Amino acid sequence: MPPFCLCRWRMVLNASFRYVDGSLWVDDFALGAIAGEVGTPVYVYSLRRVLDNYRRLRQTFAPVSAQLHYSVKANGNAAILGALVEQGSSFDCVSGGEIQRVLAAGGAARQIVFAGVGKTRAEIDYAVERGVGWLNVENALELDYIQAAAERAGAETVRVALRLNPQVTANTHPKIATGHGGAKFGMTAEVIHDLLAKRGIYPRIHFAGIHIHIGSQLGDSQATLDALEKALDLAGPYRQIRTINLGGGLPAAYRFDDTLPPLDGLVSALASRLCGYHVLLEPGRAIVADAGLLLTEVLYVKRQAGQIFYIVDAGMTDLLRPALYDAHHEVLPLCKTSAVGEVAQLVGPVCESTDVLARDRLLPRLQVGDRVALMTTGAYGMAMANTYNARPLPAEVVVDENGEAWRVSRARDSWDDG
Ligand SMILES: *Cc1c(COP(=O)(O)O)cnc(C)c1O
Repeated sequence: MPPFCLCRWRMVLNASFRYVDGSLWVDDFALGAIAGEVGTPVYVYSLRRVLDNYRRLRQTFAPVSAQLHYSVKANGNAAILGALVEQGSSFDCVSGGEIQRVLAAGGAARQIVFAGVGKTRAEIDYAVERGVGWLNVENALELDYIQAAAERAGAETVRVALRLNPQVTANTHPKIATGHGGAKFGMTAEVIHDLLAKRGIYPRIHFAGIHIHIGSQLGDSQATLDALEKALDLAGPYRQIRTINLGGGLPAAYRFDDTLPPLDGLVSALASRLCGYHVLLEPGRAIVADAGLLLTEVLYVKRQAGQIFYIVDAGMTDLLRPALYDAHHEVLPLCKTSAVGEVAQLVGPVCESTDVLARDRLLPRLQVGDRVALMTTGAYGMAMANTYNARPLPAEVVVDENGEAWRVSRARDSWDDG
């Protein structure tokens, strides 16, 4: 049996999540103590790490003065939104509910971009009434609804970016690619030209931007740059289009041996191509993924059919990504161990064969009652949690920016909450 190697843990650990004297900590706290008090499964977020990531991205994209719109769908936790509001972040929302959350966290409507392939009329009315900064439009009929909403709300102008489907194939998992020709997202360049040609019939709409978002967890920048060229070709003839929104998609490191693609090439390419344009970015994952983890406890150990199953109290209802798109999350024990490693399956309690959190993974030998952390689950973790099997949603704990206090920011649901 190969040893469960401790030396490889570097990429999924960081200044906030690290081992201190052999136990896994978040900032100034042992995660075992938090799990002991709050129970499992529980998501734990480090606001310090969220804000470090936000500031680092702002700095990286400073040469193009990019305005960062944090993508709320990655993690809509109220404490995270509140901390980003304080930093002056803007926001990318994909539903009326997300807009409401940002406003409740103290965010300004003008700093919100409202995107989405299927906005309801009620959502459009709400966004226009509240004075949301941008609507990213993906459908000609939406423009009629926005024009009508603006008339009803007495809004002089509503600022719109038209979402281009640039027909590029991003270097990412097919299930999280959005910019290829067969995707439901965006509009073709022809449709956008047609809309701009007849913009006079929408007197209250200011066609001020082009939006692209080609996918998530992008492995390199090439498809983004290809899409940018198409957006610039499209925008070129129209003097009123001064904003290019490049969407999200910046990756996070999920595996021990992941290295992130450098961004300097992208930034310098953007700087040379986007001169004279206002640049928006919508990062979600890159801000919150490695600022959170999911703690879970081993309920049973089953040795069957030549395999080891660790059955834990978190499942696909708490963390859907592995079942939904084969996502990989490293599994770390709360107590560092030199025990031999064994290839095992980490599975949840849900009555589905796809309820596997980690498949064929070299793990230290675990006992009933041991706790492990599913790393890099701050993005699209709790955000996708659901109540299948009438399972209560897990709790969320947030550690303050100074790292010195933690609190339950969202209590675990109970059976009564269904
Ligand atoms: C999901 C989404 C994002 C965020 O994507 P990340 O990969 O988390 O950065 C940004 N913009 C739009 C329109 C999205 O749908």
